[in-house]
Amino acid sequence: MHYDHFIIGQGLAGSLLAWRLLTAGRRVLVIDNGNVAAASRVAAGLVNPVTGKRLVREPKAETYLAEARACYGRLAGQFGVDFFHDKPMLRLFDNDEIKLSWAKRNDDDEYRGLIGEALGSDECGFETGGFIQYQTGYLLTSPLLNTLSQWFKQQTAMLETEFSYADLQFGDTIRWQDHSADGVIFCEGARVINNPWFRHLPMQPSRGDILTLQTDDPLPTWIINSGQWLLPLENGLFKVGATYDWPRPGQPLQEKGSLQGREKLLSVLHRLAPTVKHYQLVEHRAGIRPNSKDKRPLIGFHTQHPRLAVFNGFGSKGSMLIPYYARHFADVLLTGGRLDTDVDIKRWL
Ligand SMILES: Cc1cc2nc3c(=O)[nH]c(=O)nc-3n(C[C@H](O)[C@H](O)[C@H](O)COP(=O)(O)OP(=O)(O)OC[C@H]3O[C@@H](n4cnc5c(N)ncnc54)[C@H](O)[C@@H]3O)c2cc1C
Repeated sequence: MHYDHFIIGQGLAGSLLAWRLLTAGRRVLVIDNGNVAAASRVAAGLVNPVTGKRLVREPKAETYLAEARACYGRLAGQFGVDFFHDKPMLRLFDNDEIKLSWAKRNDDDEYRGLIGEALGSDECGFETGGFIQYQTGYLLTSPLLNTLSQWFKQQTAMLETEFSYADLQFGDTIRWQDHSADGVIFCEGARVINNPWFRHLPMQPSRGDILTLQTDDPLPTWIINSGQWLLPLENGLFKVGATYDWPRPGQPLQEKGSLQGREKLLSVLHRLAPTVKHYQLVEHRAGIRPNSKDKRPLIGFHTQHPRLAVFNGFGSKGSMLIPYYARHFADVLLTGGRLDTDVDIKRWL
């Protein structure tokens, strides 16, 4: 069978791009190896436009948030499942830097509607006090990927298998096994560092641990953020995350939960949920984030082989950024328009 695009990887990036292209009438074959430790399968899916101790606002926050809401709303309409949930976040005042950052940002018009007034300990129930962040929430990434995988299969647009670069054959069309396509879009997440055509891209993957726990004790109603975060779910379930490990020479990052990571996350639990005294560990997972060195997405075409493209580099913010860039890159592929220069891989030439 002949396709317009092979898409390698069915994480959130490959999934939303394939969904856009199929919806626009393109013939797509998604190839994924079903890795349960893929970043999108491990992530908590938090959406948060104001991050870090300096409370830095994502420059195009309104645009990204509007597109994320529109995209997840459209998917909810198509499949009858609310994959995205709004939930405000309480950012704790647990050090002087964060208090200073809040004081500075609170007077800044750019932060209007994103951060709220300071709350004392009696108002928020946390000794340190804090402030509420708005326009935050979480995406149920695994249910969304499972739903899209089923939908792709119904349209013979998906194969579950390991993809090997050596199996691509180049001629008038690009052949892979019994299939051919006009082009290949690599959406392999952190594994792009092994890609012979795109391994030169400046990736800086980071590994993260995440815990799912259960308690009968009362949980906060907000997402709690103190560098590490706690996400309350239903029926006493909650997630705590995430650690950051950067690669060291000769030590590749492992997609396996580490004892160190688990201890680190359990050690901050009393700060994130002082009311939780007893809990059970339900799951401990780890994955590798596809961070780029300049913290911007890496999208575009190979200069010598323009039939090969990459859609990657969404780092720690895939849930907020991917809907916007899946639409943008699909428009480029469908209409031949220009890619935003700040995400185009040509900036690294
Ligand atoms: C611990 C942790 C917590 C995170 N928390 C958040 C969060 O709260 N909010 C947020 O927005 N982001 C979060 N992220 C980041 C988020 O997961 C990423 O931004 C996003 O999921 C990246 O999606 P992707 O599709 O580019 O990559 P991936 O999810 O890694 O998907 C790549 C896919 O390609 C497949 N693949 C790769 N190579 C091959 C091959 N050769 N053959 C076949 N298949 C292949 C993989 O199996 C995988 O399915 C977190 C990540 C981690 C690890």
